[in-house]
Amino acid sequence: MARYTESVCRQCRREGTKLFLKGDRCYNEAKCAVMKRHTPPGQHGQARARKASEYGTQLREKQKCRRAYGVLESQFRKYYDMASNMRGITGDNMLCLLERRLDNVVYRMGIAVSRSQARQLVTHAHFNVNGRPVDIASFQVKVGDVISVKEGKKSSPYFEALKNSAKSSKMPKWLDFDTEKLEGKILALPTREDIDSQINEQMIVELYSK
Ligand code: SF4
Repeated sequence: MARYTESVCRQCRREGTKLFLKGDRCYNEAKCAVMKRHTPPGQHGQARARKASEYGTQLREKQKCRRAYGVLESQFRKYYDMASNMRGITGDNMLCLLERRLDNVVYRMGIAVSRSQARQLVTHAHFNVNGRPVDIASFQVKVGDVISVKEGKKSSPYFEALKNSAKSSKMPKWLDFDTEKLEGKILALPTREDIDSQINEQMIVELYSK
């Protein structure tokens, strides 16, 4: 699978906003690259900071969302296509589909500090969903699904430390996670209000519907 291999902080600088791709470092203003340097990366970064066209603004919004969830262009387009074939508001549906990815759920439950770390934990086969092993980051969870750390992995230093930590204060209300049991549940499907992202999904819909 294709992967982004450059510095992830460059992605935040390109979008001019914090995408929270690096875990704890992102909450340290002194270490966060986008707080230190306010222009896009590269030799001509200053020039790129000029006022963008309508198309350019929509494109940046799409890139911001795609990068925040760590999804490649073709996958992202598939989420849009699926969302536009669903009932309801396309932009809300698309964000809901992105939120329901297993790697995002692991991140939101506070099991990982970033989505990329969550993806690594998932693809390295640390979890069961409803008692069955799942190592696909894009797996779509549904209401009632139980996500648990595999028995054999619970004694690893990483999960031992997680057991002794407090429940994440940033846990959205559609999720629950028991740090003692290392087991979480999907209580409901996420709604737009539950998603704390600063993404203008309407701009993405406008871009793709041109
Ligand atoms: Fe983005 Fe985090 Fe890097 Fe800041 S520290 S630029 S929020 S990835």
